Amino acid sequence: MAALATAAQFRKERAEVKSAIARSEMTIFDAINDHRESIRRMRVVELLAAVPGIGKSRAANIMERRAISPTRRIGGLGPLQLMALRKELAVGKTDPVRGNLIVLSGPGGVGKSTITSSLRGDPRFWVSVSATTREPRANEKEGVDYFFYSEEKFQTMIDAGEFLEWAEFAGSRYGTPRIPVDEWRNVGKHVILEIEIDGARQVRRSDSTSRSVFIAPPDWDELVRRLTSRGTDSPDRRAARLALAQAEMAAASEFDFTLVNDQVDTLIARLIPLATA
Ligand code: 5GP
Repeated sequence: MAALATAAQFRKERAEVKSAIARSEMTIFDAINDHRESIRRMRVVELLAAVPGIGKSRAANIMERRAISPTRRIGGLGPLQLMALRKELAVGKTDPVRGNLIVLSGPGGVGKSTITSSLRGDPRFWVSVSATTREPRANEKEGVDYFFYSEEKFQTMIDAGEFLEWAEFAGSRYGTPRIPVDEWRNVGKHVILEIEIDGARQVRRSDSTSRSVFIAPPDWDELVRRLTSRGTDSPDRRAARLALAQAEMAAASEFDFTLVNDQVDTLIARLIPLATA
């Protein structure tokens, strides 16, 4: 029953969006930025076909010409595909406003990954996937949490200038691949980097339009509790993380903004206006 009700609700929401597009009350790019699951899971071709003057067969042609799979769903469009659709429809005849670059840093254990998971579900943002030389943790997936690279591969990327920034942290190297950041910003997404302090400094130096946000714990004792209760690290690694956390806390004043992570929802509500303005 619940599944049927959801399906009916999805159909209703999709029909509303399609008819708004047909009446030129919204563009397909408004739909592409719609948060609702019903719209994120809708096929791109269906949306295109609703545009006045396009219709089903032209929509299919466009998809083929732009090498976008006919089954591609809105939530799965990549930056180059979005760019291609914009060109195809010549929306407003101008390029989209470039998205912002937002750097989030803060000591380990402060809850940065909870924050980025929440932002991943918001189509206004794209959360960068870093490369690292450290070993994957049990629950981590290649290409989702990180790109897990060998020292050699990482070094090749440094030499080729492929990192926007990179740094060493707790004996491993971490870096932000430059190209996807540019591509997503070019199609108007606000790009989030969740990186350590040294990387944040490099981004600030290289891009004066970037915004840096320091995520602070409610208090130091709470942070120690969170760091020492993490079961995935060896005692040595844990001690190193505590020392690093202390050094990271000292860098808070270098950031454009500081937000205290007492409650994730409250923090996100404060972060979004800073990130999207
Ligand atoms: P972890 O090993 O716990 O996933 O991450 C350790 C630290 O590396 C965290 O402070 C995290 O923010 C940082 N980090 C993750 N990716 C990058 C990156 O691409 N560049 C830099 N500079 N730091 C990163």
